[in-house]
Amino acid sequence: MKDLINKKIWFLTGTQYLYGEKALEQISKNAALVVKGLNESKHIPLQIIFKPILKSQEQITQVCTEASSDANCIGVITWMHTFSPSKMWINGLKKLHVPLLHLHTQFNKEIPWSIIDMDFMNLNQSAHGDRELGHVATRLKIKRKVVVGHWEKEEVQRSLGNWVRAALGFYEMQDLKVCRLGDNMREVAVTEGDKVEAQIQFGFSVNSFDASDIVKEMQNISVKEVEALMRVYESEYDVAENLKEGGAQRQSLYDAAEIELALRCFLDNGGFKAFTDTFENLGDLKQLPGIATQRLMADGYGFGAEGDWKTAALTRVLKVMSVGLEQGTSFMEDYTYHFGEKKSLVLGSHMLEICPTMADKKPSCEVHPLDIGGKEDPVRLVFDTPAGAGLNLSLIDLGNRFRFILNEVEALTAIKPLPNLPVARVLWDCKPNLETAAKAWILAGGSHHTVFTQALNTECIEDLADMTKVELLIIDKQTEIRNFKATMAGNERHFENTYLTIFQMKKLNVLLIFMTG
Ligand code: MN
Repeated sequence: MKDLINKKIWFLTGTQYLYGEKALEQISKNAALVVKGLNESKHIPLQIIFKPILKSQEQITQVCTEASSDANCIGVITWMHTFSPSKMWINGLKKLHVPLLHLHTQFNKEIPWSIIDMDFMNLNQSAHGDRELGHVATRLKIKRKVVVGHWEKEEVQRSLGNWVRAALGFYEMQDLKVCRLGDNMREVAVTEGDKVEAQIQFGFSVNSFDASDIVKEMQNISVKEVEALMRVYESEYDVAENLKEGGAQRQSLYDAAEIELALRCFLDNGGFKAFTDTFENLGDLKQLPGIATQRLMADGYGFGAEGDWKTAALTRVLKVMSVGLEQGTSFMEDYTYHFGEKKSLVLGSHMLEICPTMADKKPSCEVHPLDIGGKEDPVRLVFDTPAGAGLNLSLIDLGNRFRFILNEVEALTAIKPLPNLPVARVLWDCKPNLETAAKAWILAGGSHHTVFTQALNTECIEDLADMTKVELLIIDKQTEIRNFKATMAGNERHFENTYLTIFQMKKLNVLLIFMTG
């Protein structure tokens, strides 16, 4: 993920020639100070690059074209320091193909009541200048984020930072390659979907391979390498007695390490940053990859079980978005419920594959039977997750469009130990409560597979949804079922209309071809 940190955001300051050289010089200095201030914020994970202030249509068009073609520019922040007549921005904005954030700030914080004069006014006009840009951006139907407030304020910087994280995720999506090992778990609906449409909408590509490709890769792996990885396991985790040297299931640890090395090689050679597998298509693999998948996720690879390529891609994207943050992000599943007297909770887990970035302490490395799939017992890491705010995010294909569904949750420490449950897990309290959250989730068609993150917040996901132009349904403390249903009904009409319009336009094209032909 190191190369992602080198990506940049460009800062474009709008003005015009009207104010004279002296004022323009000051505008340039002020804008540079704003950028310097933002770059000092711990909330913004990438460097913001100050670009020369923009005074004409030609300069605006040129910088927007450059931003869209520069390999390292993944987003643009605009700020109208003064009035920048926005017909000058139309051609440039039409050429802009990276996410846009409109920062509605002002260089000066407060009105200097006793000394304010026309010189001050020449330097602090964003109150009307930014509205002019907003008008044109709205008229051009450009999805963008608007952040309002003084640039030194922490909330403003935090909001900018969330958008920068979304821009990183959006950038990652464009070229992400997802490897599927085997197809879907048979008869499962929600993990299916239109991969061609996904590539058109998001950019990521999904292609299939199978377990034999991983088995083939094992021929290039030496005993020495496997033993070295087993030593890594022994130093990083509390390895169970039966997996230690001389233990009855030592061979299982060897096989697990060999699978990890082969899988990692295969993914890296193919440039895959996300993958799926399924216990029904394991071929000659001795175990379902458990510790291998967990450790790959911890290193930033996306994963979805049972062929779930949408969740695999999304796990990778959210991991990229959370770069530099301490909290974890993992593939997740709503595992089982606790209908308590006072409160209903969810225990989240999967049969093996929970990312150890979520672990509250050193995970234990264990081997247990899986009971399904008919393979040998898989090695896995077992741990609990720290308490704290988090969210679950699902991406589904509705046939005519994709939809994100998000539920804000509060992770809790385990009420009681779970000595006989040999999987990593999280216990969470859904917002507003499990009854409403699960009802809304099920009405929305959300998957049982999600990405769970304690690193990112809802605002990051809202920004990502805007960038990808995908519907997002949010279930949070304010969710109430009647309103939620009304929102879904409204969205349905909106997307149906969009779909109809495209269909009608296509028909019209056919008609025109017929008439001119
Ligand atoms: Mn599953």
